[in-house]
This record gives sequence, structure tokens and C-alpha cells, in this order.
Amino acid sequence: MSSLNLLKKYYVKIPLKMTNIIGYTLNIIPANKRFGKVYEHQFRQLELEQYAPSEVQAKQTDEKFLALVRHAYNHVPYYRDLFDQHQIRVDTFTGIKDIEQIPFLTREQLRQCKEELIADDVERNKLIYKTTSGTTGNQVGFYLDEDTVMKEWAYVNHLWGRIGYKPDSSRLVFRGSVFRALAKKKKSWQYDALRKELSCNIFDMSVKNLHEYCGAIKRYKPDYIHGYMSAIVVMAKYIEHSHVDLKHQFKGILAISENVIESQRDYVEKIFNCRLYSFYGHSERLVIAGECEYSYEYHVEPSYGYIEIIDEEGQVIHDDQIGEIVATGFCNQGMPLIRYRTGDMASWSTKQTCSCGRNHLRIKDVYGRCRRDVLVNRENTFVSLISLNTHSDVFDKVTRYQYYQDVVGEVVLKLMVDTPLSEKEETAILKQLNEKTQDKITYTIKYVDDLPVKANGKYSTIDQQLDLDSFC
Ligand SMILES: [Zn+2]
Repeated sequence: MSSLNLLKKYYVKIPLKMTNIIGYTLNIIPANKRFGKVYEHQFRQLELEQYAPSEVQAKQTDEKFLALVRHAYNHVPYYRDLFDQHQIRVDTFTGIKDIEQIPFLTREQLRQCKEELIADDVERNKLIYKTTSGTTGNQVGFYLDEDTVMKEWAYVNHLWGRIGYKPDSSRLVFRGSVFRALAKKKKSWQYDALRKELSCNIFDMSVKNLHEYCGAIKRYKPDYIHGYMSAIVVMAKYIEHSHVDLKHQFKGILAISENVIESQRDYVEKIFNCRLYSFYGHSERLVIAGECEYSYEYHVEPSYGYIEIIDEEGQVIHDDQIGEIVATGFCNQGMPLIRYRTGDMASWSTKQTCSCGRNHLRIKDVYGRCRRDVLVNRENTFVSLISLNTHSDVFDKVTRYQYYQDVVGEVVLKLMVDTPLSEKEETAILKQLNEKTQDKITYTIKYVDDLPVKANGKYSTIDQQLDLDSFC
């Protein structure tokens, strides 16, 4: 394990007082230097290459893909067997167009063939073991090269830079991690001067705690809000309804991990009066795609990985139809994953160019984990959450909501509100939902006091209790 990763592992054990003393001193060193060589090199490359012409990017993709498949054939038992079995000759490949010869890799295959997917030319103890998000039993484990951590951080910093973020900007953090003050003193927030993070407890966003967070914001004046959308929305609702005067203007909002629903984006941007920025990525670290200064479409980073979108029959989609994202990562030599079915949904942009001038491929309407984020209508057909996306303001009074389903064709819409909606507002919500799902689902509204986040602090808009596999 590198000294940097070791430091990261033990960082949380250092007393907060100590990190704050070190922080104020260490922050004199420019962030790019502090994060180490891997970070510095990657960050510089990204800044240099971001406006590269399409032909240059296409050439880079071809080269990275050819290097990947040759490495996979020579050093990864799973791929050697797979290619031989399908008579795939990687030595005849000339570029990314040949990728379609390779069969898809499913989560189930990753689970079953984990050991065979590890390259035989890497030191095992230098790989980092991770699991995908998901419920217990549904998670999949995989290995990452140790330098992927700082590489990823360089990509994220580069992307956030599009709304002015600097590696030494300060952040108000709403994430699922349990921080020191929360674990030791049961405090609801803490300020870490080394990381310049004001972390707030998202597992208990009571009015009392939200009031305290506002006090801490006034004191530390963080530049950006960083975290899960569900928690940011709760904060925004509190600010709106309590009329608290923060006397502080954030420079932007950095949303991570959860799907960004357009109506929530509009609302949060209105309340905080700044841009909300998000990027698409996943724990397997195969692809990353971020919005730009001018557009909410996700620009796929060509040096990180390659994206394909496929339909239900597994055919590659080239038009703007919504399909499943299939990802091939270029950054992980230890366990290369080729044509991995992510379960996430998206469609290609229909616009030829983007005002930002970058020539990256662009995807839109990205939606996570299609296998879980669906409702089942009376005809036993899946209805993606994306199709329920609403632009209307009927959800404005709702702090949090969730679709609960345990009967086919019937859905309970759970609402967490400060004051119950009027009959007219309820009717408006139901009318919209019925229109969107063409009266094939019966909705009932139920008011609840709390809609808790999951153990990892993330929030799911759908609580699907049906066994989705039985509908395939
Ligand atoms: Zn752009």
C-alpha cells in the first residue's frame, strides 16, 4: 500500500484538533503537490487534453483499447479463455470498432469469475478490494490498482473545475460517512481544516441539527456544497421554510452518487442561487463523464474509459434511444473489465457540438441501476423512474418522497412534508403520475414522518419490494 493510501486509511484516526493544526500549516503547499505525483500528472494531462480534436481522441481510444485487450489476453485468465473459446484474435484488432466481437460481462459473471479476472502480472497485495453499492447479498466485489484512487481524484477535481472549484476550495459536506465528531462526541457536524470540509450528519437532519448546520456555515463560509442530492434538498427546504438568513453565497453545488432529478436540480439551484454540477461515474471505475460550463449533458472522458449504449436485445444503439450503459475501463490493469453491463440507463446526445468546445462524446438522461429503479405496471412492464421525472412545482412542498411497491400495478407514494398538501395539490400530483404511466399503475398517497436514508447514507426514490427477476 502506498504511503498516500496508508495515510488515507489512518487519517480518520488522527484527532481532529491535530488535523486542524496540521491543516492550517500544510495548506500552504499547493494542493496539486500535496496530492502526489500520480494526481499531479493526471490532472495536468486532463487540463492539456480537454479540447483535443475528435480525431486525436478517437486515435487515443483506439490505442488504449488495443493495449487493454492485449494485456487482457496475455495476463488475465478469464479473457484468455473467453477469447480462445470465441476464436477472438486480438492480434487482428485495429481499433475500438472491434470491441463488438467481445461478449458482454455481467455483474453475475464478475461475481463468479472474480479470481480469474485478476491479471497475473500484478502484485496482489497492491490491489485495493472494493464492493459495488447495493443491498447485502447483491453487492459485487472487485479489485482496483492502488493508483486509481488519486487518478480518480484528479478527474473529479478537473471536472469540478468547470464550475470554478479549485483543489483547495472549502466544502460543506453531506455524505454518508461517519466522521470523528459524530462517532466520538455525538456532535452533528465537524470542521476539518486539513481537508477544508465542514461535514454534517445526514442520518439525522432534524430541525435542531439543520439550525446548527446553518450556524456552522456562517462561521466557516464553505465555498461549495458537496454530497448526496437527497440531503442537499432537505437543507434547501429548511432554508426556504425557516427563512434563515445565511448571509453566505455558495459558489456551486457538487452533487454525487445519487441520480439528479431535474425538478430537484431546478429547486436547489433556485434556493442556493448557484449552479449544481454532477458527473456520472461508478464504483467499478470504468468510465467518468461530467457536465460542462454550458450544458447538463455528461461529457465522456476519453482517457478514462469507453461507453456503449445497448438495447434490451444487446444491440448497440447509435441514435438517441435510451438504453443500458456498457462500460470498458482503461485505468485498471489489475482487473480489467471489458464491456461491463452497468445496469445504468442513458441516451446519446442529439446535439452535434457543445458550446464549451470540447469534442467528447456526450450522454444525457443518465439513470442509475435500471434493475432496481423501476416500477411494475399492471401489464407486468417495467416503468423507469426517468419516465416519472416531473418539471412541475407540485413537489415543491415535499421534503422527501418515495415510491413504494409490493403489489404489481399498485404504488404507494410516501410523502414527507411540513404541512400536508391540499386536496387540489394531491390531485395534481396523482393526475401527473397517471398521465406519465398511462393509468397502468394505481397510486395512493401516504404521509410519513420520516423517510430514512440507507445505512450508507444514500437515499433511494424507489423502495421496490417485488422480485424483479421474476418478470424477465
Ligand atoms: Zn460542453
